Formats: sequence, C-alpha cells, structure tokens
Amino acid sequence: MTKNISENRACSADLAVFVARNAEVYDSIARDIWEHPEVSHEEARSSAVYRERLAARGFRVQEFPEMPYSFCAEWGESGPVIAFMGEYDALPGMSQACATERQPVVAGAPGHACGHNLLGMGSLVAAEGLVFLLSQTGMRARVRFYGCPAEESLGRIPLVKAGRFNDVDAAMTWHPADVNTPHRYRTSANLSFVVSFQGKASHAGMAPHAGRSALDAVQLFNLSIEFMREHVPPGTLFHYVISDGGAKPNIVPEHASVHLYVRAPDAQSVHEVMKRVRKAIHGAELMTETKASIEIKAGKCDFIPNTPIQDTILEAMTAIPLPEPTPEEIEFARELQKKVAPADRQATLAPIGAPLSLLKQPLHLEVGDFGEGKRIGGSLDTGDVSYVVPTGQMNAATWPLGVGAHTWQSCAASGSAWAMKAARYAGASLAYAGFLLVSKPERLARAKDEHRSVPTYRSTMDY
Ligand SMILES: [Zn+2]
Repeated sequence: MTKNISENRACSADLAVFVARNAEVYDSIARDIWEHPEVSHEEARSSAVYRERLAARGFRVQEFPEMPYSFCAEWGESGPVIAFMGEYDALPGMSQACATERQPVVAGAPGHACGHNLLGMGSLVAAEGLVFLLSQTGMRARVRFYGCPAEESLGRIPLVKAGRFNDVDAAMTWHPADVNTPHRYRTSANLSFVVSFQGKASHAGMAPHAGRSALDAVQLFNLSIEFMREHVPPGTLFHYVISDGGAKPNIVPEHASVHLYVRAPDAQSVHEVMKRVRKAIHGAELMTETKASIEIKAGKCDFIPNTPIQDTILEAMTAIPLPEPTPEEIEFARELQKKVAPADRQATLAPIGAPLSLLKQPLHLEVGDFGEGKRIGGSLDTGDVSYVVPTGQMNAATWPLGVGAHTWQSCAASGSAWAMKAARYAGASLAYAGFLLVSKPERLARAKDEHRSVPTYRSTMDY
C-alpha cells in the first residue's frame, strides 16, 4: 500500500516497530563483533558479518580494492543516493569485560573501546530501516551501506580518493558517545607521518668525530617543533614520539625516527604548516649532516557538517522514540560513571558546548543540540567524505555521561544491553533522516547548495 508522504509521523512509528521487531538480530550482530574485536586492517570477520547480512537482505555487495575489508552494499535502482557509513575496527590492548571494574577479557588483546561494534550495527539499522520505509511508501532511492574499515588508522581516505563517494547525494553516519545530539561541531584535520634520519655509525668512545648522529637530527628537529608551536595558527597541535632512538649509547646512532602528528583547524592549514615542518626537517639535516626521509602514514580532513542534513537528523532524532533504560541499566551506568574521575567527566561535554549539569545524571535520556560553532582536537575520516558530498552525523548516548571514547569504561559500556538499544535508536534516527531527505527533495537541494561553498577536496596525505 502506498502511503501519503505527509504521514511522516505514522512512518516514524512504523519504523520504530520494524526496528524493534528485528532488535534481537541487530543486537546479536553488535555483540558478536564486540566479542570478536579485530583491529584496523584485520577486520576480515567483522566485514563478512555485514556483507553476508546485507546480501541476504537484497543488497548488491561490491568489495573495493582500495582497502582490505571495505565494501559498498546498495539497494534500489533509481532516485537519490542516500549513504550510511559503518565502521567495525577495535583498538589494540583495550580488551575489557562488560563490567564496572577494569577487567580485560584477554590481557593485551584488542577491545571495542570506540564502540565501533555499535557504529556498524547502527548504520546497518539505518540502511535496512530506510529500505523498509521506501518499500512501505513506494518512494524511490538508492540506499547504500559503506563498509569502512580501519577508522582508527588510514580510514576511508583511499575510498574517497578513488571517487567511491562521488555520486552520493547525502552521506550520514553516527558515533557512540555519552550524549544524544546532532554532530554540529567540526573536527580537526591531521597528518600522521614518520621522519627518519640516516646518519653514520661510529664508536661513541673511540671515534665520535667520525659519526653523524641521526638521533641528534631527531632531537634538533623536535626542538624546532617546540619553538614553532608558538608561531603557527591557533588550533594547530603537534604531538610526537621518538619511534627509533638508535640501538645502544656506545654506537653513534646511524638511524633514528620520530612519529609526528600535525593537527590544524582545516586541511588547508595542515598543508600550510607542513611547508614549515619541511623546512625544519631540512634544517636538522644541514646541522647534523644526515639525510631525512618522510613516510606518510595517514591523514584526515576536518569534518564540515552540512546544516540542512544536520537539521534533518535533529528532526529525525526527535521523531524517533528514545530508548528507556531498565533499573539495572541505570545502575550499571551509575557505577561505570563513578569509575571516571569527577574532574575528567567534563572532557566529553565541554569541548562540544554541552551543559556540564548533565553530569548529575548517569545517562543522557533526551535529545540535545550541541556543538554549533565548536571544533574538537580529534579527527575523523568522515571529514574527507564531507569535502566531496553533503555529509551529516549524530552522536547517540550509548555510554554513561562523562565516559569518553578509548577508555576501558567505553569498552565495557559498548558490550551492554543499553548500548545496543541506543545504537538501534541511532540507526532508526538516521533511517528516518534519510527518508525525510528523499521525501522532501528541496532539503537535498539545500544540502547541495550549501556544499558548493566547501573547498575543493585535497587529502592532507597529498601534502
Ligand atoms: Zn570511533
């Protein structure tokens, strides 16, 4: 039966019923991936779970050669292309039971401390939920699920550079968090690279004059970075570790390396800062008579939120009923929240402008609208997608308030029943946002209009 598109409220209620009916399957996928964490570039199993599921639901699955375990699954023959992006990589060393004490499942093993077991599932719900709504209403669109591996590493940049997103009309995703909000805040652009110096070994006691120390070059280069900090645009950050400091003190180091991140408010600023970093590398070479080489590891553009899409996501988040916690889920959240030092709890809220008074509660049980005009120091590979097509995203409160990503608490929470409910809520919200975009073409037109002002895409890795 074809429904009138003005019956949007009825549609959101039908969607909620559809998602609830399939809740067991969705939750089992998220739990399965949480129980089998795979780090970046090794997500063979997790990727297969999604490919098999989507193929069984009538999606056409295409694996991409640009990145192992990346793929696109598409449903529908015509109409606008609405894309949802799903991630599934875990973090090394973060193994943690679904408990309120630090308790690794396997010491030293990976764990889903960024909640990507939920992220993939929520985006799956979004794709299947939108297909459900289109089938109900007879409206046309092409629905895509992009399988995006290695978010914690290289990310989807090779896919963006290969043009895999170019024909998308609207791209959307979400991230597990401690609040429900459209992701209106920007993220920083970054570049991760290793500078290696080649010197000349000699006996440090017998013939130091014959050696040229690669470690001296690393230290002089690092020193130049320390002085440069003051004279780069606000929002520029440098972080580094010496990844190779030579072999033994009595050998003048023949080789030494430093792994450095440059972060800046936008991709163009990363390119500008790198011109100066290059000069500092050359200066260190000259001072020490060594030779430098640069290996680019990864790099992400800043995320540019598309306002019409973000507004649509907010509307959808408000239309879809929020999950309700059981008394046990509230208790679990309260205990886990206590394990974050009170002073550290603000770190998740302050940067995005969310009120700190929220911290009086264990869980965020309403829809906020935070982050307008803010920028965080972290980076996301969704940023590169936002340069090529109109992109929006949201956060859902899968974790207790004050719990941040990449902690044992977020890993513990990501395996909980509450997190599964919140991930399904995120998926239903994005499905409904996709439906609003398809049913109101003027919104997609406005999204495209706004996107015309986004600078031309140039990966920070092509520096
Ligand atoms: Zn993440």
